[in-house]
Amino acid sequence: MAHVGRSWGRYPVTTETVVALSDRHAPLPSSEKPVLPLGNARSYGDSCLNDGGVLLAARGLDHFIAFDPATGVLTCEAGVLFSDILDLVVPQGWFLPVTPGTRFVTVGGAIGNDVHGKNHHRAGTFGHHVLAFELLRTDGSRRICSPMENADWFAATVGGLGLTGVITWATIQLRRIAGPWLSAESHRFENLAGFFELSRTSDTDYEYTVSWIDCAARGKGLGRGLFSRANHAPSRPDRRPMPPARTLSMPVTPPVSLINSLSLRAFNQLYYHRQRKRVVHTTMHYQPFFYPLDGIANWNRMYGPRGFLQYQCVVPPAAAETAMRELVKTIADAGGGSFLAVLKEFGDTPSPGMLSFPRTGTTLALDFPNGGPETFALLDRLDAIVADKSGAVYPAKDARMSGAHFRAYFPAHEAFVAFVDPGISSSFWRRVSE
Ligand SMILES: Cc1cc2nc3c(=O)[nH]c(=O)nc-3n(C[C@H](O)[C@H](O)[C@H](O)COP(=O)(O)OP(=O)(O)OC[C@H]3O[C@@H](n4cnc5c(N)ncnc54)[C@H](O)[C@@H]3O)c2cc1C
Repeated sequence: MAHVGRSWGRYPVTTETVVALSDRHAPLPSSEKPVLPLGNARSYGDSCLNDGGVLLAARGLDHFIAFDPATGVLTCEAGVLFSDILDLVVPQGWFLPVTPGTRFVTVGGAIGNDVHGKNHHRAGTFGHHVLAFELLRTDGSRRICSPMENADWFAATVGGLGLTGVITWATIQLRRIAGPWLSAESHRFENLAGFFELSRTSDTDYEYTVSWIDCAARGKGLGRGLFSRANHAPSRPDRRPMPPARTLSMPVTPPVSLINSLSLRAFNQLYYHRQRKRVVHTTMHYQPFFYPLDGIANWNRMYGPRGFLQYQCVVPPAAAETAMRELVKTIADAGGGSFLAVLKEFGDTPSPGMLSFPRTGTTLALDFPNGGPETFALLDRLDAIVADKSGAVYPAKDARMSGAHFRAYFPAHEAFVAFVDPGISSSFWRRVSE
């Protein structure tokens, strides 16, 4: 069945045939056209799209296979959502070892992008906690991959953008928790130097750190924002309200983007000043802490029919402060801006995947309404800064980086090619391979 493909950024729009997978023991459907495994399409750009080809929808592989509540070792099919895992394991005192900012990702998708979370400085990427998985290729071959067995295939597939085969199931090591609560703090900082100072003094004592920055502020307030840090609370505090149920939704796509430079500036101002005190301490349920955006269903429709572009980069420590200043200034000067500008320090644990994005340094993530050529020109200017500082841009968020930049950001790409399944391709892969 022909299908209009959209990732979370709703750009680009593609056409694919979608074939649902539902039996992990069955061979992959044969296809003349290139296929691509699809998780829950929470990637923003075109790495989960396959224009003119076939998407193998792995969401139907949604069975739990085994869970040992004594050790926290979980085996499940690759289409299981993080939200389903949390529902199962949190009441039994376990938590995901690493989670991105939405719980609506699949295990296969999380491995395909080797996702990171607010605890990267402590826990590394999701791939560090994957004990094993099965890789099914279009030629029918199956391999069990782990850091010890078929280690080269493991390294190619973690962060391998779905290009090495279909992951049918995976075993992951969960993390012990006393309950669903976090002791959290939010610190206001006046500029980028304030962010770096808070990061330096927080990373050893706090498992989770992340900052929101006001990317519309300029001058002395360039890069001002709110630094959030947290640890799992030792036990469940009494009389805390439960997290709010999902109540908000964008029911339709408005004809034009509701996000423009005026609404962005106003939002950023208000958000920064909403916290009057320099420091606020709270005990929070894990859901609003890790997944604030999951509370508004289909929030991505706010950007209208043209969609939006996410941009996430990382710059190594030596150049990070200068690069972040240049990036934020370039964005503020362009009046582009973003509601969701997020800044975080990655730790120095090397990522397990050949094409994993996380590496030591500072990462900045923002979204931009798709304003056509002007937006693309701005993102090219950001790429030039990142490339000049030997940084990298995250494929999971990308819809437009050049092949030359991809090759510079991911030097292992040449060795990676040997692992690509000849029956698999993606819109992203064709674009950066040109
Ligand atoms: C609100 C929001 C916040 C986010 N925050 C973060 C964050 O903090 N950190 C972060 O790292 N990412 C973040 N992301 C991005 C998201 O975590 C990744 O794009 C993730 O990979 C999406 O998972 P998915 O199941 O939707 O996979 P998809 O987007 O469908 O696919 C992702 C990749 O994995 C491959 N794939 C999917 N299933 C399989 C399978 N069974 N076998 C082999 N390959 C497969 C696909 O081919 C594709 O290349 C965020 C996204 C959103 C929408």
